[in-house]
Amino acid sequence: AHLDRIAAVDEQVHAFLHVDTDGALAAARSVDERRAAGEELGPLAGVPVAVKDVLATRGVPTTVGSKILEGWRPPYDATIVQRLRDAGTVMLGKTNMDEFAMGSSTEYSAYGPTHNPWDLSRIPGGSGGGSAAALAAYEAPLAIGSDTGGSIRQPGAVTGTVGAKPTYGGTSRYGLVAFSSSLDTPGPCARTVLDAALLHQVIAGHDPRDSTSIPQPVPDVVAAAKLGATGDLTGVRLGIVSEFVGEGAEPGVMAAFRESVDALTKMGAEVVEISCPTFSYALPAYYLIAPSECSSNLARFDGVRFGLRVGDDGNRSLEEVMSLTREAGFGPEVKRRIMLGTYALSSGYYDAYYGQAQKVRTLITRDFTAAFERVDALISPTTPFTAFPIGARTADPYQMYLADLFTIPTNLYGGPGISVPCGLSEGLPVGLQVMAPTMADDRMYRVAAALE
Ligand code: GLN
Repeated sequence: AHLDRIAAVDEQVHAFLHVDTDGALAAARSVDERRAAGEELGPLAGVPVAVKDVLATRGVPTTVGSKILEGWRPPYDATIVQRLRDAGTVMLGKTNMDEFAMGSSTEYSAYGPTHNPWDLSRIPGGSGGGSAAALAAYEAPLAIGSDTGGSIRQPGAVTGTVGAKPTYGGTSRYGLVAFSSSLDTPGPCARTVLDAALLHQVIAGHDPRDSTSIPQPVPDVVAAAKLGATGDLTGVRLGIVSEFVGEGAEPGVMAAFRESVDALTKMGAEVVEISCPTFSYALPAYYLIAPSECSSNLARFDGVRFGLRVGDDGNRSLEEVMSLTREAGFGPEVKRRIMLGTYALSSGYYDAYYGQAQKVRTLITRDFTAAFERVDALISPTTPFTAFPIGARTADPYQMYLADLFTIPTNLYGGPGISVPCGLSEGLPVGLQVMAPTMADDRMYRVAAALE
């Protein structure tokens, strides 16, 4: 049914870069056989999942939305993909994304933009716009995203779906094409909080193949979502981040947010305002740290090891071939980030830019820690504005970067964050973000589920 739905609507939505029809049908059949043989199967057995094209899938094209990896079929599965297979889920295919997960609209994909199913002339968010659009268009019931600065939560907010960024290190990065290794966090996308929690439970947990994976048991997010769904938040203390309300967000977004805060209060939550002054510096710190890490990580795309190779005619030097390959293979935003990062890391500027940004990161973490001494979770709108028209923010990178104003602090800190639909503004979806302390992912699921 989902493959039929993809065939019917994906020409307009363009959520998928690759549909693995044969693989999906084979996986579905194998679940049937395992069930017929009396095997005990998990709760997601047979459920289709769409996977962001940032995760390596054995034998299935993995492009990261870039020309530089066109035609690359990884020889191995990312840990998350392996866990999805073990759980008996059925992978439908790979979803569209901004090139190397750099962007907030999926317009920077080298393979053309994804359209928001709510209004096809608008963006579905990014970088994981394909995963969110696939859910909103009912092309898939579950999807995987990755969140470095908001790429799961922001697409969730603008497509009226749920997107959760787990605690950094709570989900494995093995087989995730690296953008900014100290921030990258794969996570679940779904249409309901409980669905997201079920997917979270399947993919999360320690992985010895990722050195930053946390060797601790995953909190029971499914139980937490069920608890939240009872609608009783008695005893739960929530903090509204003062810096994120008021001037930062569109009036329609603020109105929907305020209504949800009233609902949370009626369910018994105690809501206070909390100032986190350093959060205002999160965006500039992020746009030094993420490009710095990207400039190093993307050095491996040299035309030798994977994907594209340009100009290798036997007469050119290795350096010329690398240059030509990177010139042709990377899009303008990726090049901008590599230039920014290389500059910020260069001798003489390192302390002034990268070093300074790392200090800001520490201060942001302190603000979170202090806030969580007073409240169980922080809340804010997920994004300052709703889905904008395709093309509206591509001319000015700063306008695009603003989409992640409210999501980025969580990444710098490393804690979990979730976006849950909280109403409409001029007919377009608005998201509410819940942020929790590291390894307290269950708390955010409880609060988010209460809002459904
Ligand atoms: N929009 C942010 C960026 O462009 C975040 C991307 C992400 O989370 N992958 O870097």
